Amino acid sequence: MTKQLILVINCGSSSLKFSLINPLSTETILTGLAEQLFTDKATIKIKYKENVKVKNILAPYDHSLAIAILVDELKALGFNDNVAAIGHRVVHGGENYSAPTLITDEVKKIIESLSRLAPLHNPANLMGITACEKAFESLPQVAIFDTAFHQTLPSKAFIYGLPYELYEKHSIRRYGFHGTSHYFVSTEAAKLINKPIEACNFISAHLGNGCSITAIKNGKSADTSLGFTPNEGVMMGTRSGDVDSGIIFYLVNELGYPIDDVNKILNSKSGLLGVSGISNDCRTLEEAMTDEPNCRATLALTVFSYRIAKVIASYTASLSELDGIIFTGGIGENSMLVRKMVISHLQILNFHIDDERNEQARFGQSGNIAANNSRSCWVIPTNEEFVIAEQTQQLLSLNNEGE
Ligand code: ADP
Repeated sequence: MTKQLILVINCGSSSLKFSLINPLSTETILTGLAEQLFTDKATIKIKYKENVKVKNILAPYDHSLAIAILVDELKALGFNDNVAAIGHRVVHGGENYSAPTLITDEVKKIIESLSRLAPLHNPANLMGITACEKAFESLPQVAIFDTAFHQTLPSKAFIYGLPYELYEKHSIRRYGFHGTSHYFVSTEAAKLINKPIEACNFISAHLGNGCSITAIKNGKSADTSLGFTPNEGVMMGTRSGDVDSGIIFYLVNELGYPIDDVNKILNSKSGLLGVSGISNDCRTLEEAMTDEPNCRATLALTVFSYRIAKVIASYTASLSELDGIIFTGGIGENSMLVRKMVISHLQILNFHIDDERNEQARFGQSGNIAANNSRSCWVIPTNEEFVIAEQTQQLLSLNNEGE
């Protein structure tokens, strides 16, 4: 095998997800996850073919040690010399990055400076970059930004109705997230309808623990529901999505909540978890649903689906044509119930679900779940890791051509 594999790294503050991908053959060779980093329970799980190895990570239980174990494993399997580059998922690229970017000291400084906009994500992404620079000294490292796909938003979609200086001086605007996923599923949908992506118009719904809806006009992001932070738009697993900002002042000024507690409520205690009082997990709520009028699991999924449908309907204002709706993410790919509930609110736009097709499109199966008399409506499993591998490979080929 020649040197053509890309190692994809997705670093969280206490986790590190990785995949070894051949972007040319589209094959995922090895995957894995290091979890509970910075605790004495830190482990790394590496899956290759049918084998799963789990190893403890020793003190100081950090990303570098997880990567060192991964490097040993790659050597043992004979892949180390075949890795051409490392592709990193980086959450926030601000207005600086709209394309895959070769990581240099200057780029790292900018990623660090953008940590103020993504304090939970960019510092963790940088830890992964630093660990990989040490472990793979001679290999190029590429950053793929979650926000990059949304850099095509027109100003009417990214400017808030706030004093303009807040945008100019403090960069307060809509950035959007999940860009890599919306990009992937829209390009896959374009292939399904045999049209060039530049001629396609979709509304894609990425529904996982985090949820976002994107209007895609002529293949480009035209509006998206996550905003300055990943807590705008629809309700999510534990995040509230849109709420009246007056509620925050009421909680603080009238009810005496400390502002940090309000932050926790909005980001970690709301959404499906907050409304149901049971769980943020869609599967658990589906199991707990009853016909009782006060059933909170039913209420949570009803509010969740209605709010998704409202945002989808509102995005027809961003588009002059619509080829169809795309569902993706853990809930979008698997929950027949949520898809059915969402589509039931969109009949006026001529969307109707076919129950049998809806049942078939699960567990990694894509398909059109619309009835024959309906506009198209697809389930497309997302694959952000593949996009990161492919874009890393493309950037390196471009650079090599230019030499
Ligand atoms: P993340 O945003 O953390 O990547 P995922 O995209 O993996 O999350 O989505 C997690 C969500 O997908 C959870 O709410 C989970 O319940 C839901 N989910 C996964 N499988 C199913 C299923 N078979 N039926 C309904 N919901 C599912």
